[in-house]
Amino acid sequence: MSVIVQKYGGSSVADLERIGLVADRVVAAKRAGHRVCVVVSAMGKTTDQLLGLARQASTSPPRRELDMLLSVGERTTMALLAIALHARGEDAISFTGSQSGIITNDRHFDARIIEVRPFRIEDELSRGRIVIVAGYQGMSYRREITTLGRGGSDTTAVALAAALNAERCEIYSDVDGVYSADPRVVPAARHIGTMGYEELQEMAESGAKVLNAEAVAFAKRERIAIYARRTSDPVDAEARETVVRAEAPREAQGVRAVVGDAQIAWVHGALDEGSLAALLATADEAQVPLRELRAEGGRVSAIVSLLRVPDWERARARLEAHGVTCTAPGADTSVSLVSLVGDGLTQDGRVLRGAFDEARAANITVRSVTATPFRVSMLVGAGEADALTRRLHARFCEA
Ligand code: ADP
Ligand code: ASP
Ligand code: MG
Repeated sequence: MSVIVQKYGGSSVADLERIGLVADRVVAAKRAGHRVCVVVSAMGKTTDQLLGLARQASTSPPRRELDMLLSVGERTTMALLAIALHARGEDAISFTGSQSGIITNDRHFDARIIEVRPFRIEDELSRGRIVIVAGYQGMSYRREITTLGRGGSDTTAVALAAALNAERCEIYSDVDGVYSADPRVVPAARHIGTMGYEELQEMAESGAKVLNAEAVAFAKRERIAIYARRTSDPVDAEARETVVRAEAPREAQGVRAVVGDAQIAWVHGALDEGSLAALLATADEAQVPLRELRAEGGRVSAIVSLLRVPDWERARARLEAHGVTCTAPGADTSVSLVSLVGDGLTQDGRVLRGAFDEARAANITVRSVTATPFRVSMLVGAGEADALTRRLHARFCEA
C-alpha cells in the first residue's frame, strides 16, 4: 500500500474548525487507500507569539531554550489533530520530531536533518493507523530538542517522504501553489503549474516564503516530487496545484519570478588584511549565515537573513566590535533585496538593463547588484521592495 505524506501549514490549522477540515482531508486520503503520514505546523501565528514572549524576557534568548519553547507549538497541533481524527472514528497517533526519529545536528534554531529513523512511524502505519508528526523539530545526537529554521515543517515533510519512500509529498497552505510573485504583493502574479527544483530553490533562498529553501534542497537531493496545494480547495474536484520535480530544460529563457525580501540586514566594512577573516570567524561564532558575500574594491559586504538569527542584537554587537557596520529593518539605512529568478538572465544585457530602467523610473537607488544566469538581485532601500517587485513583475512576467 502506498504511503503519502501531507503537510498542513499554520494558517490551515489556525483554529479547531480548520483542524476539523484538515481531519476530513486526512480521512479522505486514508479512505482512498493510502497509508497517511501527516506533518503539522503550529496553529496560526503561534511560533511568532512564542518568539515574541521569549524576546520580552530577553533581547538575546539562548537558542537552546528557544527550541524548547518553539517546539511546543507543533506539539499542540499534532495532539489536537489526532484527537479530531479519533472523533471521526479513525485510529491516529501523534509523535514529536524526536519520537519520529528525526536526527539533526546541534545548531539550535536552525538545525539541519542528518538522518531519519522512522521506525515507530512505519510500525504504526503498518498497523493501519494515521500518523501525525509535529513539524519543524528534531533531536540532536546529544538528545537535545532542535528546530529546523522558520518554515521548517516543509523540511520535516520532505525528509519523511524520503525516509518512508512515499509516493508523494503534498504541502497544503493558503495558496494553491507557487506564483510568479507573492500574490499578496503582486495581485497579477501568475500561477506556475510545474517547476524544477533549482528554480524554486533560487526563489526560496531569495526570500520567497512559499516553501522552505532547505525543504526544496532536500527534495532535489532525494528526488521527491512536491505537490503544493490549497487546503480549502475541494478534495474530490480537480484543483490547481504546483508540481515541483526534476524538470526537462525549458526552451523559454528569461524571468520566471520576482521575489522581495525585507527581513534582511546588510553588513559591510572596510576590507583590509585580516578583516574578511575576522568577519567570517565572527559570523560563524555568532551563528550568522552570510549571503551574497562580496569582497572587492577595499570593501567587504554580505546579507544576513534575520529570520535565521533570533539573537540579532548580540550578533550585531559582536560584528560591530570588529568594525563591521550592520543595518537592519527600522533604521534609516536599512535595506531590502529584490531578486529576479529564471534562466539565461545574463545571456545579454536585456534583463539587467530593464531592471535598472524600472528602478530609475521609480526613483529607486540600486545600492548593489549580483547577477548569475539564474538570479539577478538588487539591494534597495527598506521600503522600496514591494514597489520595485510590482514594476519588475509587470515588465518581465506580465508581457
Ligand atoms: P504555511 O504557513 O502553510 O507554511 P506560508 O505562509 O509559509 O504557509 O506560505 C504561504 C504564503 O507564501 C502565501 O500566503 C503567500 O503570501 C506567500 N508567498 C510568497 N511568495 C509566494 C509565491 N511566489 N507564490 C505563492 N505564495 C507566495
Ligand atoms: N511553525 C514554524 C514557523 O512558523 C514552522 C513552520 O510553520 O513550518 O516557522
Ligand atoms: Mg511555510
